[in-house]
Amino acid sequence: MDLTLSSQELAFRDELRAWLIGNIPKDWVKALSATHGQREHFEFLRAWQRKIYEGGWAGISWPKEYGGRGAGLMEQVILTEEMARAGAPQMPGILGLALVGPTLIACGTDAQKRRYLSKILSGEEIWCQGFSEPNAGSDLAALRTEARLEEGHFVVTGQKVWTSYGWASDWCELVVRTDPNVPKHKGLTVLLVDMHSPGVEVRPLRQMTGETEFNELFFEKVKVPVENVVGKVGDGWNVALGTLMHERATLGAGVQITYKRNFDRLLEVARELGRTADPIIRQKLAQSYAEIEIMRLNQMRAYSRINQSGVPGPEGSIQKIFWSEVNQRFQQVAQEVLGPYGQLSKGAPGVFDEGQWSYGYLRARGNTIEAGTSEIQRLILGHFVLGLPKSY
Ligand SMILES: Cc1cc2nc3c(=O)[nH]c(=O)nc-3n(C[C@H](O)[C@H](O)[C@H](O)COP(=O)(O)OP(=O)(O)OC[C@H]3O[C@@H](n4cnc5c(N)ncnc54)[C@H](O)[C@@H]3O)c2cc1C
Repeated sequence: MDLTLSSQELAFRDELRAWLIGNIPKDWVKALSATHGQREHFEFLRAWQRKIYEGGWAGISWPKEYGGRGAGLMEQVILTEEMARAGAPQMPGILGLALVGPTLIACGTDAQKRRYLSKILSGEEIWCQGFSEPNAGSDLAALRTEARLEEGHFVVTGQKVWTSYGWASDWCELVVRTDPNVPKHKGLTVLLVDMHSPGVEVRPLRQMTGETEFNELFFEKVKVPVENVVGKVGDGWNVALGTLMHERATLGAGVQITYKRNFDRLLEVARELGRTADPIIRQKLAQSYAEIEIMRLNQMRAYSRINQSGVPGPEGSIQKIFWSEVNQRFQQVAQEVLGPYGQLSKGAPGVFDEGQWSYGYLRARGNTIEAGTSEIQRLILGHFVLGLPKSY
């Protein structure tokens, strides 16, 4: 790859840089960390996403006719890097932006693209991913939520679990079983389900961080119009795999913004606390810095593959393993740098950085499970990249 920016790309970067300076909310980290996981926090970030959309920076690579910018790989890379550099907040509609939108661009009908894409970009409609069930996580094809065709509608009954942002979502990309009489991978279909439909119940699950980011979803005879099928009936496995590959390949770009900001802050705090004189701490900080930099380059490789072939490849699993494990190591380093300060959670007397370090340490545990566990990513790499035999 030639990473030298052309004059056009430099102009794009400078315009974006100036826009970010003028538009990033001041002191937002401090103001927001006290409301982590709450509606107020979410709405603040939603307003930020709308601002990005109105500024013309959302959906950099999405087609112009659906509200995107129709730009290429380098603009995507520049956007992520400049957001990280400027310490910008992440966008809350991340599942729509990283997963559902790309799936609709690849497999949706024109009517679906027109109806949903621009609202995903603006954050007007928030999406969740209804894949996992109590007995179907790594083995997603074992899922049992059923959809029966009755008088021009699918009628959906079943349960999903661990649905991130289910409580805030307007729509769900739901994988259902439409045919129980064929091999398990062949009987699945992907539906777009209105979360405000009668029969949908969302029950928040409390995590060890104290917040309720994810949820259980219950569907009791929920009517879904047939035009809400993505791809073909019975082809849900392929559509869902496409979504998962986008999740692995592109979610790293979003988290990179947060990691870079967290790293810069930790470095600042380490200096304030006089911890940088410790040679072991210096080594560990340098290692974290190097790993976050490698993540940036891995992300370019993932984007490059999407730009060349239109779809992410199994190499996206490298990025998924890497970002999840990098964060766990980084959060451990943060605890070592901060000592007892790192364990204080929000609301505690004398709390440091509004408790973001104890939150970050606990939340990082889920990184190697969400979007497919590290064991599953290694199976994918072993089989599809290295050509090793399947283990199951
Ligand atoms: C923070 C977070 C957010 C999430 N958000 C969502 C969401 O928005 N939507 C959604 O649908 N799901 C979501 N999930 C669920 C997530 O996708 C599943 O938890 C994950 O796929 C693992 O499935 P499971 O929990 O059923 O564990 P299991 O599949 O039961 O796995 C248990 C253990 O066995 C290992 N294992 C399983 N099969 C194999 C194998 N063949 N070879 C080797 N090891 C194996 C796993 O690696 C794991 O260590 C989220 C999870 C977390 C933690």
